[in-house]
Amino acid sequence: MGILVIDANPIHLDRVIGILKSSGYGEIFSFQSVQDARRSMIGEERTSLNAMLGIDLVLVDVTGDPEGFHFVDKIRRSPVYKDIPVVVMCEGNRSEAISSAFAYGATDFISKPVDITELKARARSGIKLKYEIERRKARERELIEVTNQLSDLNEILANLSLIDALTGIPNRRCFDDTIQQEWRRAARHGGDLALLMIDVDHFKMYNDTYGHQMGDTCLQEVAKTIGQQLRRPGDLLARYGGEEFAIILPNTNAEQTASLQKAIMSAISGLALEHNASPTSDIVTISMGVASVTPDNDINSPQELIQIADQALYKAKESGRNQVYISDKKQISA
Ligand code: GH3
Ligand code: MG
Ligand code: MG
Repeated sequence: MGILVIDANPIHLDRVIGILKSSGYGEIFSFQSVQDARRSMIGEERTSLNAMLGIDLVLVDVTGDPEGFHFVDKIRRSPVYKDIPVVVMCEGNRSEAISSAFAYGATDFISKPVDITELKARARSGIKLKYEIERRKARERELIEVTNQLSDLNEILANLSLIDALTGIPNRRCFDDTIQQEWRRAARHGGDLALLMIDVDHFKMYNDTYGHQMGDTCLQEVAKTIGQQLRRPGDLLARYGGEEFAIILPNTNAEQTASLQKAIMSAISGLALEHNASPTSDIVTISMGVASVTPDNDINSPQELIQIADQALYKAKESGRNQVYISDKKQISA
């Protein structure tokens, strides 16, 4: 804990130092002028910079010397020292000196010759203030640290999560896990596995016309509407990508998906979300690719099933959109 005292009057300087020492403050740096203090404490010699860093309180006499006020101002403007409390000491016209002292950024004021009790009290409260500021800053640093850790944690949790944040339905990660599981199950029990890939038509134009936020709302509506058409507990609707959705239907062959296809297509057209820019319709439409396989018999991996459904979706797009294309492929063409 260090205190810097600047006073041109050596008798007063000794008196102040004596009072401070008798109060238990050990490290006192004293100077008879601001110039001396600056040279030695802050100075052009950068090596002495650290001396000022250990200062918790400055007592500066401004009697007949405007440099004292400039010193206060300098401290307040310094990014490094601005939190050091400064008590201005002055002899003579008290009210004038007080207003200048506070205008320059002094923390406190004391008239000369100083009263022992007053000096002790003001020194104590100045140092207390410095500690409070340091404590608050340390707390702020802690809070920033905790906030950063929390946002890292949120990111990790979001990545671990199986739910898509925008639509609230299972995300791609969940889709990938589920299709692997269902694939293995179907392979073990010899059942069929169907996959529906759905893509919103001309969605880029939708965003361009109605804005990204409306685009988000549209995706939420589409996801909700598709989800409402699923009936069996084992069926899974996921957001596969941006404006693309996938439905995994265990124990289902292509023919058995027919009623679900119809239900989804008519529910989306029933939503009647305006899409004036679409060349296909004046409302939002979707295209769907359907594939169904018997694992192992037909193809060898869930990736192949996804690829077949994707090709079917592409065909639906190519054939004019707003329609379903059912793949009859059992093998992927070379
Ligand atoms: P197509 O009929 O051939 O499918 O045309 P499209 O415009 O729908 O397809 P394209 O792949 O060109 O554009 C997809 C658009 O979907 C572009 C992308 O900005 C938008 N998109 C993807 N994810 C989101 C999202 O989360 N919110 C919004 N608002 N837009 C999204
Ligand atoms: Mg699209
Ligand atoms: Mg797409």
